[in-house]
Amino acid sequence: MTASARPPDVRSQTREQLVALFSEWQQPAYRVDQLLHWLYTTRATSWEQMTNLSRPLREKLAATFTLALPELVRKQGSHDTTQKFLWRLFDGQLIESVLIPASPALYGEVSDRHTLCVSTQVGCAYGCQFCASGLEGYKRNLTPDEIIGQVLAVERWHSAPSAPVSPATLSDPSLTGTPSHRKPTAATSRPRLINNLVIMGMGEPLANYDHLLTALRILNASWGGGIGARKITISTSGLAPKIRQLAEEPLQFRLAISLHGATDIVRSKIMPINRKYPLTELTSACEYHVARKGKMMTLEYILIAGINDSLDQTGPLARLARRLHAKVNLIPYNTVEGLPWSRPTEEVCERFLQAMLNEEIGATLRREKGHDIDAACGQLRLKTERQLAHAPGVRLDTPP
Ligand code: SAH
Ligand code: SF4
Repeated sequence: MTASARPPDVRSQTREQLVALFSEWQQPAYRVDQLLHWLYTTRATSWEQMTNLSRPLREKLAATFTLALPELVRKQGSHDTTQKFLWRLFDGQLIESVLIPASPALYGEVSDRHTLCVSTQVGCAYGCQFCASGLEGYKRNLTPDEIIGQVLAVERWHSAPSAPVSPATLSDPSLTGTPSHRKPTAATSRPRLINNLVIMGMGEPLANYDHLLTALRILNASWGGGIGARKITISTSGLAPKIRQLAEEPLQFRLAISLHGATDIVRSKIMPINRKYPLTELTSACEYHVARKGKMMTLEYILIAGINDSLDQTGPLARLARRLHAKVNLIPYNTVEGLPWSRPTEEVCERFLQAMLNEEIGATLRREKGHDIDAACGQLRLKTERQLAHAPGVRLDTPP
């Protein structure tokens, strides 16, 4: 079944849409609020649970909408560390989300809760040379409920023990129930676990603009996810016209640009999108965004050995940051199996940071050791798909 052939999922509907539908069905508006309470507060997983809605109404809802969450395939990491989740969607496609515990250095503000990195597409069409997400091309956009579902499903599963999943489970949809040793948290009203979102998983969010914005409006709404717009950071590789469009949105999302090169020569070498929207065009779209929103943006700069880590880049990078009133996040590259790129030495990274600080730019360098997780969405999926393709009988109990 294609994403468009499937009935819409109820979690892709805004309150307004549901109110209009319920009025067509001659149902009072307060029934919509009861439904929304089941979906986003109780986080119900079946229509039967919604006992304060009449049976005929539940049947009507079930005939009109699906009520599905992505299905857990693999979970890596433990309760109080960074956790990666690999999900299977209704059509068998795999996507990832990464849950990062509270850290003052992350996007948004200091928090006692968690940041979730969500995916917006299966694969990616933009083909940045260093990135795992684009390696096997683009498959499809995620629907709004598949974006929202990552938040709800992570909250459901994060406290379950990490257990390996057998290859049979991966390939046979009939075996994908919930084995007793992998119980999700039961559907009850619980405080939100996740209060920061970074749209930095697999895919280019602004290439799936409409679905993304519907999902974010629902995740932000007080009747929905209740996550503040200022706690949601959208990262883009630089789709200039869409950055302008985003500047017109009333909600105050944060914006991060994956820059990774401060001159067209360097950036075009690693990010094909730069040939379509070179730095002058990207910068002017960003300036427009800053002017409309009055908000500080972030420039992401992965440091890749011998590619963009030369001190020659620091002058142009500082000029760009100054012009956009942006802060700069320097991130040592995470190696990707099958790609020749590597991270520079610590000394090179520190020197690059110091050059930015000497230019009086607000810059940070991610220093955690042994992490392969921060921006590594796409890697678990890639590894899993490759393991299955090359050795279908392989056991997947060694964490990739
Ligand atoms: N498509 C969007 C969002 C997803 S990528 C974008 O490009 O911004 C999220 C971030 O992870 C981007 O800054 C991307 O450049 C970075 N990234 C991708 N592969 C990486 C790797 N191997 N190591 C470190 N960062 C990586
Ligand atoms: Fe796509 Fe972003 Fe990866 Fe580039 S960095 S291939 S745009 S996910």
